[in-house]
Amino acid sequence: MFALQGDVREHLHALDRLGVEAFGVRRPEELARCDGFVIPGGESSTMAKLARAFDLFEPLRERIHDGMPTFGTCAGMIMLAEKIEDGVVGQETLGGLDVVVRRNAFGRQVDSFETDLDMVGVDGPVHAVFIRAPWVESVSDGVEVLARVEGGEADGRIVAVRQRAVMATSFHPEVTGDDRVHRSFVEFIAQS
Ligand code: GLN
Repeated sequence: MFALQGDVREHLHALDRLGVEAFGVRRPEELARCDGFVIPGGESSTMAKLARAFDLFEPLRERIHDGMPTFGTCAGMIMLAEKIEDGVVGQETLGGLDVVVRRNAFGRQVDSFETDLDMVGVDGPVHAVFIRAPWVESVSDGVEVLARVEGGEADGRIVAVRQRAVMATSFHPEVTGDDRVHRSFVEFIAQS
């Protein structure tokens, strides 16, 4: 998984609990050993700059566009969006998801909040933790919406999506100790 910035440890613990051999990636040589990839929560503009500085940006973009299964949470979702709104000036993304993602989208109402929502591929409600989270403003054909916010001012906003081998959530399943969202990603890799 991407380990230049963000809540890497929480993801590694979740993957570990699922029996996945997961490790932090900071260099292109480490990326070459990956069958799947996770981009954590953190600060997407910093992630993009560090990925450039460590020569990881282009190899990672290539692997994602070649079909490496990839899961991004929060900042990771922003990194995977083909287009972003409210990015910092010149902010780059890796792409892979044909969506427009609005950075810090909930921030205008409330910075951080928690709610339960239904998610495709996961049985029963998912407790979703949002921290200065983005939402998906719009999706292209071929993008599957996996979850939306239910109720409140942001009712109906898209917060989980999947396209080909790429999946992303606006929220942080890595911080709740409930590994079902990670499991759905791992099962998805196993199938593909
Ligand atoms: N606001 C952050 C960003 O723009 C994302 C926040 C998070 O990952 N919790 O990257």
